[in-house]
Amino acid sequence: MDTSVKNLIVEKIKSSKIGQVDFDNLPFGDVFTDHMMVCDYKNGSWGTPKIIPYQPLTLDPSARVFHYGQAVFEGMKAYKDDKGQAWLFRPDENFRRINKSCVRLAIPEFPEEYFFDSLKTLLRLDVEWIKPGEGNTLYVRPFVIATQPGVIAAPSEEYKFMIICSPAKSYYGGEVRVKIAEKFSRAADGGFGFAKAAGNYAGQFYPTKLAKEEGFQQIVWTDSSTHEYIEEAGTMNVFVRIGDKLLTCPTSDRILDGVTRKSVIALARDQGIEVEIRPIKVAELLDATKNNTLKEMFGSGTAAVINPIQGFGYKGDKYELPKVENSYASRFKKQLTDIQYNRSEDKYGWRYKI
Ligand SMILES: *Cc1c(COP(=O)(O)O)cnc(C)c1O
Repeated sequence: MDTSVKNLIVEKIKSSKIGQVDFDNLPFGDVFTDHMMVCDYKNGSWGTPKIIPYQPLTLDPSARVFHYGQAVFEGMKAYKDDKGQAWLFRPDENFRRINKSCVRLAIPEFPEEYFFDSLKTLLRLDVEWIKPGEGNTLYVRPFVIATQPGVIAAPSEEYKFMIICSPAKSYYGGEVRVKIAEKFSRAADGGFGFAKAAGNYAGQFYPTKLAKEEGFQQIVWTDSSTHEYIEEAGTMNVFVRIGDKLLTCPTSDRILDGVTRKSVIALARDQGIEVEIRPIKVAELLDATKNNTLKEMFGSGTAAVINPIQGFGYKGDKYELPKVENSYASRFKKQLTDIQYNRSEDKYGWRYKI
């Protein structure tokens, strides 16, 4: 894809801060690269994207984002192979999704060539921040915020589209035990659970804090009307393996359509694993635990790729999953990271050269 933005403005840093970074001890999302992308929307159109040194923003305290939460984001990762070539994984999906999120929050869509041209330029400038080797990635965070001043509950007429990048070590959250939601909800029918909108995450912090006090790391959300069906976790879609069958719930306006999720489904089907995409009752999980057919649960998402779930809690009871040999979780994690790091053939065309 040869895209070019005429007049992409690039202002380079004077000296890189990369020498001060301890790449072996990187807390996730804490350190940012030398440059960032900013593009302003004003008077009905997106201006020229700029790549500038990473720096704080100055915003009016009445900027709409602070009061009405008009903010959406994306999360993707760049990888470097052993020859030093950098890659993204299915960035076209992230581009489509951020615009879907924008539409739902009444934010103007961002032009495709601005996105890819500035993304590539930014990543090429900061390419030294992408370290080769298993587990090393550069987390890329595009986002949009409403910047127009005025405490008026109406869509902003001014926005900033930005991309910032943070080097990350492989994210291993340890053993994950989840609480299945019985009372709180993450999203409702007709709402914007499908969007990567900032407010969807703010609303999860309090219930998740309560779940942590009970010894869980995350919540698996259930449908808001009955709490009888599992939906997804905070930033991950959820898969369940019953027998040798893989189950995941359908996407809807309550559920984020994860890129990792659709990649896992494609890989599984291609390998002859039966995949059922249908609502999954909590009762079915409990039955499967009783008759020992519940083999695995795992989350899928860009941050951890695949995150095995070791146990879950529901209505005061705790359930542990068995440790299985040759788990689907480890199989899909390996297959996905092999594609991401250019260690295997990419027959789906998922890799994107930077
Ligand atoms: C980002 C996210 C996911 C995972 O999506 P990926 O595209 O696989 O990273 C799943 N659920 C929620 C709520 C998310 O925010």
